[in-house]
Amino acid sequence: MDAVDVLIVGAGFAGLRALHTFRGMGKRTVVLEASAGIGGVWYHNAYPGARCDVESYDYSYSFSPELEQEWRWSERYATQPEILRYIEHVADRFDLRRDIRLETRMSSAVFDEATDRWTVTASTGQRWTAQHLVLCLGQLSSTKAPAFPGQDQFAGRIIHSGEWPRDKVGFAGERVAIIGTGSSGMQMTPVIAREAAHLTVFQRTPNYSVPAANAPLTEAEDRAVKAHYPERRAAARNSPTGLGFKVNRVSALDVPAEERETAYEAAWDRYGFGFALVYHDILLSKDANDTAADFIRRKIAAKIEKPALREKLVPKDHAFAARRPSVDSGYFEAFNRNNVELADVREAPIVEFTATGIRTLAKAHAFDTIIFATGFDAFTGSLLKPEIVGRGGITLKRKWAAGPVSQLGVAVAGFPNMHIVAGPGSPSLLSNVMVSIEEQIDWFARLVRTMDERGIGAVEAEAEAERAWVEHVNERARETLYMTADSYYNGAEVAGKPRVFMPYSGGVRGYRRILERCEADGYPGFRLVARDGRAAVRPTAA
Ligand SMILES: Cc1cc2nc3c(=O)[nH]c(=O)nc-3n(C[C@H](O)[C@H](O)[C@H](O)COP(=O)(O)OP(=O)(O)OC[C@H]3O[C@@H](n4cnc5c(N)ncnc54)[C@H](O)[C@@H]3O)c2cc1C
Repeated sequence: MDAVDVLIVGAGFAGLRALHTFRGMGKRTVVLEASAGIGGVWYHNAYPGARCDVESYDYSYSFSPELEQEWRWSERYATQPEILRYIEHVADRFDLRRDIRLETRMSSAVFDEATDRWTVTASTGQRWTAQHLVLCLGQLSSTKAPAFPGQDQFAGRIIHSGEWPRDKVGFAGERVAIIGTGSSGMQMTPVIAREAAHLTVFQRTPNYSVPAANAPLTEAEDRAVKAHYPERRAAARNSPTGLGFKVNRVSALDVPAEERETAYEAAWDRYGFGFALVYHDILLSKDANDTAADFIRRKIAAKIEKPALREKLVPKDHAFAARRPSVDSGYFEAFNRNNVELADVREAPIVEFTATGIRTLAKAHAFDTIIFATGFDAFTGSLLKPEIVGRGGITLKRKWAAGPVSQLGVAVAGFPNMHIVAGPGSPSLLSNVMVSIEEQIDWFARLVRTMDERGIGAVEAEAEAERAWVEHVNERARETLYMTADSYYNGAEVAGKPRVFMPYSGGVRGYRRILERCEADGYPGFRLVARDGRAAVRPTAA
């Protein structure tokens, strides 16, 4: 059994950053990764059309000015292959691979109260002990696949967007089905439509989408960004969602309709996700939201030529951005093609899969390939798969049976020295996740340094502080429209999952300030136990 200081699980953006940071502090560090490659989301989601929906310059590491200067993004929103190339480059440039164990899934982690260390067992049978367990398991890393009657009978291919095969998948001459119209379904539709003989998109919930207005990045643009990268990063860290947009303090309801229309028009094919920030109350007030939603509906409707399809594709049943909206490149326009068909499963539900395709209440469809773009068991899916056992034999599964609880989104009472990156209780998927990942890892690194300097062997969330944080997360969510829609933010998309709002909606800037205050005040809400004598100690406030 190998002993390390820090054991990191997951080799996506978060795990690689954690490895670089902790190893740089002189810690013996190892990363366990279940897959055969590094990259996390960007390894698994290799479907056609996959790309980031936060601009490439912002959806990238900020820890190395040299890396920032030498990497050249080719498009405003980079494709999955380009992002994976970037991740591979980072791994090589910072010599990360030697401490990453691929095809090594953490199956259990058990905390030993006598030594304040975790014992981690992998699917390969290997075991490690570690003082710190850093969970970088991802938010969208457990796929959710439906089980339709007769699914096994289907003679063609079934592929999940989040477990895309490594070999190139061709669709030329094929009849293809895409089930699901979230971000993945919306991204792949126009691309597959161009290649397949026929494409049928199965839609349950029509989704809002803002145009990506993706474009190649010119040399001049690249130089301009690189000349001011520190300012750009600071703007991202200080914006609510890590995108760099300043909040407009004006209410959508306090401006005349024509002025609002002009503002929405100006933002429409430039802002991407930032569209939700044109006015400060778009996600806070239904009336304000209606102004944005109405604008988007008109814009979407104008793209769709057939009136019957327009009626079905325009979203109406939820507030804009209450579910994660998409940032698309030609999704709605794809339905103007003769080879693309919409199957509305609210109108005609899927009855069963057959050997040749899918039978709905309306008709039998024949397919060669069926793609599940059905999303993920978000936030908690991967955290609850391994057996994680804390003090007194309590498991994370039992502790989170009614939904995830944590102190500040970083620690869980009963699970000392376990650090969760970009998980529930933190801004996570409500932000540019890259900003959230880097902020949290730097905070963990400073906590670990403080522990070393003060002879502290274990840090653990206090149950009372945890209750208060969960209440605060809920309180912030109640101020928004997020709970008015079924979404992966609140667990409604997974049968049997507790319906609780999981991410922190107070913004990355507000969240960072809370973490910094906690650190400056000597970590209130955490119990710090000295290595010798087991006495609780508290570092003095800085
Ligand atoms: C298609 C897609 C597009 C996205 N685009 C954006 C975007 O534009 N902007 C944005 O901010 N966010 C985006 N996201 C969200 C994305 O989750 C984060 O941005 C980010 O990539 C998460 O990195 P991570 O390292 O935290 O997790 P992941 O990349 O999910 O990595 C987690 C890793 O942990 C591994 N793992 C899980 N369980 C175990 C185990 N038990 N043992 C060992 N290894 C394990 C997984 O195999 C995976 O490699 C997107 C997500 C998807 C699916």
